Amino acid sequence: MTQQQLAESGHENRTSSLSYIQPKADSPWLTYLAQVDRVLPHLGRLARWGETLKRPKRALIVDIPIEMDDGTVRHFEGFRVQHNLSRGPGKGGVRYHPDVTLEEVMALAAWMTIKNAAVGLPYGGAKGGIRVAPAELSHKELERLTRRYTSEIGIIIGPQQDIPAPDVNTNAQIMAWMMDTYSMNVGATATGVVTGKPIPLGGSLGRVKATGRGVFVTGSEAIRRLGLEVKGLRIAVQGYGNVGGTAAELFAKAGAVIVAVQDHTGTLSNERGIDVAALARHVEERHGIAGFDGAERIADTDFWNVRCDVLIPAALEGQITAERARGTTAKLVLEGANGPTLPAADDIFASRGILVVPDVICNAGGVTVSYFEWVQDFSSFFWDEDEINARLDKILGNALARIWDTADRLGVSLRTAAFAVACERVLQAREERGLYP
Ligand code: NAD
Repeated sequence: MTQQQLAESGHENRTSSLSYIQPKADSPWLTYLAQVDRVLPHLGRLARWGETLKRPKRALIVDIPIEMDDGTVRHFEGFRVQHNLSRGPGKGGVRYHPDVTLEEVMALAAWMTIKNAAVGLPYGGAKGGIRVAPAELSHKELERLTRRYTSEIGIIIGPQQDIPAPDVNTNAQIMAWMMDTYSMNVGATATGVVTGKPIPLGGSLGRVKATGRGVFVTGSEAIRRLGLEVKGLRIAVQGYGNVGGTAAELFAKAGAVIVAVQDHTGTLSNERGIDVAALARHVEERHGIAGFDGAERIADTDFWNVRCDVLIPAALEGQITAERARGTTAKLVLEGANGPTLPAADDIFASRGILVVPDVICNAGGVTVSYFEWVQDFSSFFWDEDEINARLDKILGNALARIWDTADRLGVSLRTAAFAVACERVLQAREERGLYP
């Protein structure tokens, strides 16, 4: 990484004090550490527990050997990190991606600690991942990979210990295999060990679209508070998967115009608005937006300069650099993805008066309905979708209002305010529980 790229990230000379990782300069773990440093001055006497936030409680690295369909054996790296369990069992998704690393999973687990506390869910933060390109595996190979991974991390997960869920490239089918594998190993059907399951296996109505719905709910409230209207707003969406696709669909239904989308296969733009239902059908069939004929293909780098009012990053972390933050015409950024904005870009958004609804509240709809699913599994009593959506909207609305008030009171960004609310809850729990032994 060059000096200029370093300055663009906002990580500058930041390092980790942990000996077991050597984070690269663009590491999401460094982004997370920078976000923690910004909140510590606001935590008063609880700041003495600050180091707790800067290291994961537990990180498990596993080898996942599987037999491929052609008879060869391949090994994959798997991870499960429990960042903090002060407020309850670990909760967080599992990602299948060729770029997954321990430090990425550590950052994602830490953001789950913050998210669960910011929303007030009774969980700690955890995350998992496998370093794999799942599209290169057959259905059976994917099943063997998932089952072996679940067995390997089975020593630390469980309905009362740590509850995985879907994330990038994982879905209800993978959750079903995880639930079955864990259940076989413990000798009893344990539906509460994962969330995001198929409905007949104890899944919850509304879970699939919950994260995108949360982006829409928190985003609409931010739009209202900015004195704007959703109708007619021009929106650019990066990532057209579960989160980005659902958010685009709901905003389009409310009258917004989706002017640009980007995924790993390319970038599309249409000044008059993209037909999101047609695009969703295309993505379902072709596994990407490339080749869709209802919009013009543009260069990937041009996505960040498209004329728009709202930018929704809903792909991977670290996407919004200082340069991209300087180039955008958006007035509002809704973080569907986890960790999409680098600290230097956050500063530029602040100086340009661009509001960021941070990931830890904006995309918290998924874990909130996961919480509903876990509660429903324990009582074996299932709610209808209207009830789920009403409870979701209420929880997110209240959490956003509290964070907004905190931002006004402290004179900080919504991100630092969300961290302030969350870190206070986590460190208060830490202090009240005391150190064992
Ligand atoms: P997904 O696998 O359904 O979709 C990921 C999307 O990102 C795809 O459209 C993919 O093409 C795109 N993408 C991948 N690499 C890209 C690149 N280099 N450039 C542009 N686009 C790229 O995943 P998802 O569940 O929608 O997750 C997206 C983000 O939302 C992640 O950051 C995830 O951690 C976060 N998130 C997901 C959930 C959930 O419930 N699924 C909850 C909270 C946060």
